[in-house]
Amino acid sequence: MTATIDDTIRIDTVVGAGDGALLELPAGATLRIVDLHGNQAVDTLLYDAHDVNNRYSAFDTVREQGAVYLTTGSRLLSTRLDELAVISDDTCGRHDTIGGACAQESNVIRYGEHTRHQHACRQTFLRYGAPAGIGQRQLGHNINFFMNVPVQPDGALKFDDGLSGPGKYVELRASRDLLVLISNCPQLNNPCNGWDPTPVRLIGRWA
Ligand SMILES: [Zn+2]
Repeated sequence: MTATIDDTIRIDTVVGAGDGALLELPAGATLRIVDLHGNQAVDTLLYDAHDVNNRYSAFDTVREQGAVYLTTGSRLLSTRLDELAVISDDTCGRHDTIGGACAQESNVIRYGEHTRHQHACRQTFLRYGAPAGIGQRQLGHNINFFMNVPVQPDGALKFDDGLSGPGKYVELRASRDLLVLISNCPQLNNPCNGWDPTPVRLIGRWA
């Protein structure tokens, strides 16, 4: 029997607006994240599957690549400077890793007490991470795929409206066995989701 490209698809799932996912990827696998409707922030954390304390480090990634934005070729490093994954393809062009994930506490500070009840990425991370032993101590600064946070000339950060669009995607290639923890951001108070959270599609491939 002749193998086709579809034989390598091991994960093909849609994560609803505001929902999350925990994926296991073996070394060498690719994960494509598709922004189905455009302008959807996909808050993502990466972990060494064999030690969740060896986790993605935004600070080390930014310093070692000498640039603040992520795109094709970016090496995503851990707190121990291990390469967790590389961005192998990207039709959006730029992704944020310094804006952080939303939490109820930060929503209240930024947008007011009336937003305290709103669901936030931090809760999604804790809910989907729990089965893998990922708790509060294992939550660090994340990647915000498709999110536009331009750094201003004076160094200020701006949560800005979209570089992404319907069907744009980013693809990671796992450099080791990985856990990928995703919160498909439910934020309604800034333009990171175009004021309207939407679903994304995850396609994992390995031989
Ligand atoms: Zn969020």
